[in-house]
Amino acid sequence: MMAQYLEIKAANPGSLLFYRMGDFYELFFEDAEIAAKALGIVLTRRGKHAGQDIPMCGVPVERAEDYLNRLIGQGHRVAVCEQIEDPAEARKRGGKSVVRREVVRLVTPGTITEELLLDPARANCLLAIARAPQSGGDFSYGLAAVDISTGAFTVCEASQTALEAEIARLDPAEIVAPESLVASPGFARIAKETQRPLTPLGREAGERQSAELRIKDYFGLATLDGLGALSRAEIAAAAVALFYIERTQFGARPALGLPSRLGRDAHMEIDAATRANLELTRTLAGGREGSLIAAIDRTVTPSGGRLLAERVSAPLTDAPAILRRLDAAAFFVDDPALRKNVRAQLKSAPDLARALSRLALGRGGPRDLAALRDGLAAAHALAETLPQSSAALPEELAEAGAAAGAADPTLAARLGSALAESLPLHRRDGEFIRAAYDGALDELRALRDESRQVIAALQARYCDMAETKQLKLKHNHFLGYFIEVPQAQGERLLKPPYDAIFAHRQTMADAMRFSTRELAELEAKISSAADEALAREQTIFDELAALLLAQETEIKRAAHALAAIDVAAGLAELAAACDWTRPLVDDSLAFEIEAGRHPVVEAALRASGRVFVGNDCALSGLAGRGGRIAVVTGPNMAGKSTYLRQNALIAVLAQMGSFVPAARAHIGVVDRLFSRVGASDDLARGRSTFMVEMVETAAILNQAKERSLVILDEIGRGTATFDGLSIAWAVMEHLHEKNRARALFATHFHELTQLAKRLDRLDNLTVRVTDWNGDVVFLHEIMAGAADRSYGIQVAKLAGLPGPVVERARNLLAEFEAADRLSHVDRLVADLPLFTMSFAASSATQAPAADSAIAQAQDDALGEAIDAIDPDELSPRAAIEALYRLKQLR
Ligand code: ADP
Repeated sequence: MMAQYLEIKAANPGSLLFYRMGDFYELFFEDAEIAAKALGIVLTRRGKHAGQDIPMCGVPVERAEDYLNRLIGQGHRVAVCEQIEDPAEARKRGGKSVVRREVVRLVTPGTITEELLLDPARANCLLAIARAPQSGGDFSYGLAAVDISTGAFTVCEASQTALEAEIARLDPAEIVAPESLVASPGFARIAKETQRPLTPLGREAGERQSAELRIKDYFGLATLDGLGALSRAEIAAAAVALFYIERTQFGARPALGLPSRLGRDAHMEIDAATRANLELTRTLAGGREGSLIAAIDRTVTPSGGRLLAERVSAPLTDAPAILRRLDAAAFFVDDPALRKNVRAQLKSAPDLARALSRLALGRGGPRDLAALRDGLAAAHALAETLPQSSAALPEELAEAGAAAGAADPTLAARLGSALAESLPLHRRDGEFIRAAYDGALDELRALRDESRQVIAALQARYCDMAETKQLKLKHNHFLGYFIEVPQAQGERLLKPPYDAIFAHRQTMADAMRFSTRELAELEAKISSAADEALAREQTIFDELAALLLAQETEIKRAAHALAAIDVAAGLAELAAACDWTRPLVDDSLAFEIEAGRHPVVEAALRASGRVFVGNDCALSGLAGRGGRIAVVTGPNMAGKSTYLRQNALIAVLAQMGSFVPAARAHIGVVDRLFSRVGASDDLARGRSTFMVEMVETAAILNQAKERSLVILDEIGRGTATFDGLSIAWAVMEHLHEKNRARALFATHFHELTQLAKRLDRLDNLTVRVTDWNGDVVFLHEIMAGAADRSYGIQVAKLAGLPGPVVERARNLLAEFEAADRLSHVDRLVADLPLFTMSFAASSATQAPAADSAIAQAQDDALGEAIDAIDPDELSPRAAIEALYRLKQLR
């Protein structure tokens, strides 16, 4: 057995091996040590290998899902190895034959389908990445995102700079890529930053020649033309995904949809840092509570929740597509009765897509059939509820209504008549088919049950025959049915004439057990009838599953339609409950918000009985001229960060097709959202707060364009005052002159407000505060103007700094103010050349000629290194690393 174990283990490197032994999965050697620690179960020993004890631990098969869940959650992969023959067959082969075993499945974070292992509210995305050369010597990345649990399959393409943002959008549970790509430094760095499990695959996974063939094979296509114009990188990535699925599923075939292609610019690009900072789908601490999605999710089905999360992660950039979604939400806002009705119907709709996928993989159970029964019934009911003929029904809902009714309407009824009232978890348990559904099954069950009744009646007869009232008929797993009598009676039965009928089986402390030929025969009849009934049920299960899978495409369409209706009705519910308005979204460069609110902060305030103060925001620009920049000054705690974030969130909400928390909103489509907010040390990666801040700022200045929206919170805070002020100043000039994006800039450098005198698209805003008996009172109201002072000392006092410290600080401040720092600023405003001029001047400056050979060699190396850099292709992080390299060369 150990030889077999070691062979299988060697064939599955990198996975913990769950080795089936009877009712347990056992783990040995290092696997046992890892699993025992991860699961908190006992580590024991079993036998010896090469003279050493073998560490071992085991988990019961019945509870395996639970344990798998925990191992996968901790980033492990598990190879499940089953016995694939009956132990009796092995015995037949010869005394020492070991039961044949095979790995039937690799369980990895990106390929799970079990309900228990999956988060109902999140897609479980497996992301395959490949790289392919493009014309012109460049290359691009192909990304294939597959959710095996629902069959969703999308592909897209990304440049080196956009790769990280795309990965962040897809939020994968696992990334796979060919070994050669994993080894390349450019990719490895990005993959590491994502902190997702990364699985390198062998060379054959990425072979270009076989990529097309692999896709055609999987989907039974003669050509890929029907999939639209997929790029080489996309084809390669899709093939890598399929390779990995085949590798982990061993012959089981997930019911995947055909890969659908997402255009490069279809979504608002949001880099990983911005996504994290804005807490779109999880908070910085990692939880869902407190994130945007948690604040807006009013969906009532798991698949609706997943679709909503997908939309929050990827707001659209195509105005007509956004309007379609807004129309759907608006329709439900306008018709509260219909909304209520639709939501009530949706509530009874279980997770169709995931149940169907489990059936396709042969991992489904009776409850998955029930999920399809209820889901399909709800889908048909909804299709009827939505007034399809009505001209007023928005396109998105009309389509969803039609799709909801697409599957064969007799299916739900068929399942309804087949399935029993209460259902076991596993199909192997049987008893899930209703009586009177299948004649053959009914007969087998009757046979089984009659024999049981006959046995029950036997007790009285045997009492007569044994001439005792103390005889009992019992059943256990070891003996099956048997007769039990007290010791004294038993002794009697051992003798004639009784011994001709009663055969002795077992002597207990105070009882004896017997059997009879009749009992054994009846027992055999019961068990074969029970076996046959169970087998018949399995056949019926397979027939029902086949019927459903024949309608796979229609059922998936219905599932998606239900999710879309749920999202629209949920967003409408939210809009109605929280008084949100429909935004105007178009292709202009408008950004006009009236009385905007922060959805998460507002909800938190409301919970404690306080009111959020709505604030306007006007950043509209004109094409070719650029958007406006608002500089927000005001004391700490006044509400600057909240204001910045709320405007970014309103853009995200509007473009995902939601109403927004504002009295009015007009937004010209934002194609990229940038932020530099919050300050967190990234010590794990060896970067100080200031370094993180500068890396993110560099990304913005290098990439933001006219259609972008930028929010910058407290640039230059992590360094000495004048350094910080100078950097913030220069950043602002660059944003205004070069990037021309719509931007919000919160700062505690009041000096920056002077820039409005020179930069025509710059406005100063401040947050109103009042002084009340020397204490600061925050009114959270944004208004035009600059803060007159920072109230830092008052805030410090509020925070509980000791009185003498506050007093001393007050005196020092008075002295510093007397030194009149502002006079420098006035000079700067008047004298400093415009950004464009200073930029030109600096590039004209030549480095002094080096006079020694060493210096010359250094210069050459430096020159070469500089030539090798293509600024347009560098990610901000790569840029910083390049800078370090250059410094070392000097
Ligand atoms: P700052 O960035 O200026 O230090 P924050 O944006 O962090 O301030 O806001 C501080 C707190 O003030 C928030 O946690 C919130 O409770 C409250 N707040 C902010 N904006 C508003 C508002 N518009 N209405 C009501 N309360 C607000």
